[in-house]
Amino acid sequence: MAFWPRLRPARVPRSLALTLAVACWPLACGVPAQAQKAHTSGAPNAVALPALGDSVGQDLSPMAERRLGDRIMRSIRRDPDVIDDPLILSYVAEIWEHLLKAARQRGEIGTDLDTSHAWEPFLVRDKTVNAFALPGGYIGVHLGLLAMTTSQDELASVLAHELSHVTQRHIARMMGQQARQSWVSLASMVLGILAASRNPAAAQAMIYGGQAVAIQGQLNFSRDMEREADRVGFGVLSDAGFEPAGMALMFSHLEQASRLNDDGSFPYLRTHPLTTERIGEAQARLGIQGWHQALSNGPASDSSLAAWHALMAARARVLTDTRSDALHTLATAVPAKNASSLQAVSTLYAAAVAQQRTRDLVRAQQTLQQARLSAKLLPPAQQGVVERVVAYSQVDMLLDAGQAAEAARTLSKLSEAPRISEPLSPRPDLLLRARVALAQHAAPDMWQDAAYRLQTHVSDHPGDASAWALLSELWQHLNQPLRAIRAEAEAVAALGDLPGAIDRIQGAVRRFRQPDAADVIELSVMDARLKAWQRQQREDMRDEAAQ
Ligand SMILES: [Zn+2]
Repeated sequence: MAFWPRLRPARVPRSLALTLAVACWPLACGVPAQAQKAHTSGAPNAVALPALGDSVGQDLSPMAERRLGDRIMRSIRRDPDVIDDPLILSYVAEIWEHLLKAARQRGEIGTDLDTSHAWEPFLVRDKTVNAFALPGGYIGVHLGLLAMTTSQDELASVLAHELSHVTQRHIARMMGQQARQSWVSLASMVLGILAASRNPAAAQAMIYGGQAVAIQGQLNFSRDMEREADRVGFGVLSDAGFEPAGMALMFSHLEQASRLNDDGSFPYLRTHPLTTERIGEAQARLGIQGWHQALSNGPASDSSLAAWHALMAARARVLTDTRSDALHTLATAVPAKNASSLQAVSTLYAAAVAQQRTRDLVRAQQTLQQARLSAKLLPPAQQGVVERVVAYSQVDMLLDAGQAAEAARTLSKLSEAPRISEPLSPRPDLLLRARVALAQHAAPDMWQDAAYRLQTHVSDHPGDASAWALLSELWQHLNQPLRAIRAEAEAVAALGDLPGAIDRIQGAVRRFRQPDAADVIELSVMDARLKAWQRQQREDMRDEAAQ
C-alpha cells in the first residue's frame, strides 16, 4: 500500500517487460578496455536506426536521443517498481529543478538540448544505492539512494553528476560510437535492473546468459566521461546553492558504507568505482581545508531542505522494503536517546508510515501525533515542513481507514494553514485533494472542483498518469463518460500502453455514434489523440522491425 495508489493499466503487459529483460547485466561496471575499444574502433557492425534518425557514426542528435529515451520509458514505466510517490517525487524534483536552473545559467544546456529533452527524474523502488541517466534526459533514482544519503547535498551531488552525463552528451556520444546500439537493448538493460532487484537468482542467470557479453558495457561511460561528469557536476552543484562538499562527503559515505556491507547493494559503485583518483579530485576541488572542514562539520541541518531530506529518506526506507520483518522493525522503532530532534521526528514518521503499511492505522495516527509534538523543538522553517508532511500522511491514513469526512476536514484545515517556506510542488496536494473528493458520497461540487484543478494540471503535464487516472474517476462520478474514457486512455498511454489507449478510444467512438453537441467536441479531441497514438505505434513497430 503506497501513499497514492499506483495506476495499473487494465492489460498489464508484464510479459512484454519480461521478454524485454533479456540477458543483461544492468549498467555493468566501467570496463575501460571495452569502452576504449568502442572509442577507437568506430562501429564495424553498424545497423542504422532508420526511424531514430540521422546519426549513425556520429553523435545522436538531441531529438533522436529524446525519441530513444521516450521509447525506453514507454517500456519501463509500467514496471510496478517504477513508482509514483508524489511526496518523494516532489522532493527529488525540487532538488533537480535547482540543478537544472544552475546548469542552464552556466551554459551547460543549450537551447536545442533544453527543448528536446525531458529533464525528468523518476523513482525506482529498489533498496540498492543507484542512480542512472537514460537517453533524452530521464534520470532514474533508486529509493535506496535516497534512504542512504544523509543530506540533500549528498543526494544533489549524485543527481548533478548524472545530469552532467546528459548535458555533456555522453550517451549521445557513446551511441554514435556504438551505432549498433538499439533501444531494445537499452530498454532490456534498464528492465534488467528492475528484474535484478526482485530476483537476484534470475539476474545472475542473465549475467551468464549468452547475450550478456554482447550487451555488457553498452552504457558504460569511459573514465574520461566520468571525470568530466564529476567536474561539471561539481560546478552545477555549487552554483545551485548546495554545499559543494556534498560530493566529497557522498564519496566518503559510499566508501565507508560499502566496506561495511559488501553484498552488492551499491550498484552505483560498479558504474562509478571510487578510485583514489576520483576521490582525490573531489577533495582537491574543495581544497584540503574545505575537505577536513566538511568531514568534521557534517551536513548543515537547520534548513527546511534538511527537514525534507530527513523525512523523505525515512519515507524511502519504508516504501522500499516490502518484507514484513523489515516493516515490523521500522514500525516499532523509537528515537534513540541521543538522537537530534530532527532524527527523532524522522524515526517517528518512518514508524507511522510502516504502521500504515501493516494496516495498524490507529497506532499510525498516534505515532504521527507524536512526530508532530517532537517537531515543536525544531526551527520554524522545519516545523512547517513536518506539519505539511505529517498532515498529508494523516489524510492518506484517514482515507485508508475509510474516514472520508474526517479526511476532508483535515485537508481543508491544512489548506487554511499558512505556508511556511517549505519547498513543495502543488502536485501532492492536488492528487490528495482529488482522492479526498472521490471518497465523498454525493459531493458534486468537490468532484467538479477537483476535476477542474486536475484538468488544468494535465494540460501542463500531459504525461502525468496518476493525475489522468484520478481525473477519469472524477468524470465518471460527474457522469461524463466520454471525458472519463479519454482520461483513462491518456493514463494508460502515459504509462506506455499505446494499444490499451487506442482500444479505449476506438471502443468509445463505436459506443457514441450519435453524439450530442458537447460530445462532438470531445470526440474530435479523441480522434486527434487516436491518430497520434496510432502514428506512434506504427513508428514503434517500424523500429522493432529494424532491430
Ligand atoms: Zn557517472
